[in-house]
Amino acid sequence: MHVPLLDLKKQYEPLREQVRAKLDEIASSQHFILGPEVEGFEREICEYAGVGYAIGVSSGTDAELAILMGLGIGEGDVVITTPYTFFATAGGIARVGARIVFVDIEPDTFNMSVAGLREALERHGNVKAVMPVHLFGLSCRMDEIRALAAEHGVTVIEDAAQALGAEYPGAGGGMGEFGFYSFFPSKNLGAFGDAGMVVCKDGEMAEKIRRLRNHGMEERYYHHVVGGNFRIDALQAAILRIKLPHLGAWSAMRRANAASYREEFERTGLGGNVALPVEPFATGAVNHHIYNQYVIRAERRDELLKHLAGAGIGHAVYYPVPLHLQECFGGLGYKEGDFPEAERAARETVALPVFPELTREQIGAVVGEVARFYEGCG
Ligand SMILES: *Cc1c(COP(=O)(O)O)cnc(C)c1O
Repeated sequence: MHVPLLDLKKQYEPLREQVRAKLDEIASSQHFILGPEVEGFEREICEYAGVGYAIGVSSGTDAELAILMGLGIGEGDVVITTPYTFFATAGGIARVGARIVFVDIEPDTFNMSVAGLREALERHGNVKAVMPVHLFGLSCRMDEIRALAAEHGVTVIEDAAQALGAEYPGAGGGMGEFGFYSFFPSKNLGAFGDAGMVVCKDGEMAEKIRRLRNHGMEERYYHHVVGGNFRIDALQAAILRIKLPHLGAWSAMRRANAASYREEFERTGLGGNVALPVEPFATGAVNHHIYNQYVIRAERRDELLKHLAGAGIGHAVYYPVPLHLQECFGGLGYKEGDFPEAERAARETVALPVFPELTREQIGAVVGEVARFYEGCG
């Protein structure tokens, strides 16, 4: 059976008429950038994410950049993050001229190691921010990270590009001081192109970031600071507003798929060959993991990839080269062996299909192929 990694057409089908009517309405209005659709979407994200302020922007990447610029982070400052994430997390820090300090990940959650963060905060001066990433849709240990950051007077910026709706039990549920989302089409809430969102708790910072989004301009053609064009299109906001009411159900379907995978994998007795995603804070929050990706650790990973490709099972490797080993970050002086868990995750993990519309039968087919591969290995 052919199983795609992601099938966005399945999601679009039931929304088609509503989306097309909205596209037509916006085409008739000829109002394409910012405006009432964006303001409406920002209000709805505030509610969904439990935050005070939301600023719609052109991408997750630009959301991060706008936050760093808003905080005045730059030359001489240090920002701590993880080397096992999408490039943009670290790319934004480099673009404002700050120094990236990586800390290793936890082997079970793939998220930033709290012990590593503590050590980095003690070792480095000039740390202005820490940027944990809720990787694959699993919330980081936010109470511990926030406590450490507060102790050192450091701002926390949450990269929630893969985690809109993920909850951390006990830390008030929603987002902290600063966070950002991505609506890249393959994210759990996907636009019809690029889009992103900044969220924050402080009204003054929200105003500052709102100005930065539009070239630092308040009154037209009067520029208080140098910003950028980080504006979001009305079309994207309007489409995302149609999708947002479904996100809770889609997350529940992703979680149900993860539960089905667990059952199927347990039935096959592959425990020694694969390690399934963990849900470390199983109590106190429903959506502690929203499975933006379903990532397993697999023995003989590269051979398994070939087998899956041959069997028509969609899969992906997030991320094959940890960021401390990327050529463009060579100047930071890191080397192989510096972050063994990130390097091991890069070698051992594979993402399997988990999109909401995936059927039980398809999940059975995916697990069946994984099982067939290990049986073949003897
Ligand atoms: C997707 C992603 C981003 C960047 O978002 P874009 O909208 O693609 O710019 C940043 N961080 C992480 C972890 C991501 O997955």
